[in-house]
Amino acid sequence: MGVIRKTLNWYAKLSPSRGKTSPPFEHVVQIGDPRLRKISEPVPIDKIKTSEVQKVIKTLEYVTNKYGSVGMSAPQIGVNMRVFVMRLTAQQLSSFPAETVKFRGITIVPLTTFVNPTLKVVDYIKVVQPEGCESVRSFTAEVARYKKVQITGFDENGEPLQRIYTDWAARIAQHEMDHLDGKLYTDIMDRKTMCCACWEEVNLSKGKVAIPFAPE
Ligand SMILES: [Zn+2]
Repeated sequence: MGVIRKTLNWYAKLSPSRGKTSPPFEHVVQIGDPRLRKISEPVPIDKIKTSEVQKVIKTLEYVTNKYGSVGMSAPQIGVNMRVFVMRLTAQQLSSFPAETVKFRGITIVPLTTFVNPTLKVVDYIKVVQPEGCESVRSFTAEVARYKKVQITGFDENGEPLQRIYTDWAARIAQHEMDHLDGKLYTDIMDRKTMCCACWEEVNLSKGKVAIPFAPE
């Protein structure tokens, strides 16, 4: 899941390395890419430690850091494996106003990798908050998510892993779980709340804004 950016003022540059590449990508694929709509395949447990799966996990971590994201799933880097990472650093937490942290229930989440995760709803109350996605770059919309969920799966070493997440962390987990089933937040968003994340900047800059698909 993407960090919601209020303004953007970045001009697209021609990439000198333009051309075909193979997954795992070091960029995030965008809505329209068929890989975002596939139901991803489970990873055989005895394959978690193989270089192929480890490379996917390492690339997910790399891309998450590069984009400053709070969650990233394997399909978003072009790999239809049931793997996602999530994290929310102290630095990311401090980038939100205190009232937003409180209102959204944002908490620090250590970097956590889930392989073959399953989700169980712990609290069926639904919470509506704005949400973004690195694969739906530069848009946000309000999405209803369960307040509390339990994720069960395996970690990057193939060890069993279970976590309970509440509020914002639960939102991240539900968002990433959806990616593994080919679902995007745009499928379930409140359509009338969809925003271009940089609409104010578009006015301030008199339209001279480009939407970036990768950090500089
Ligand atoms: Zn996403």
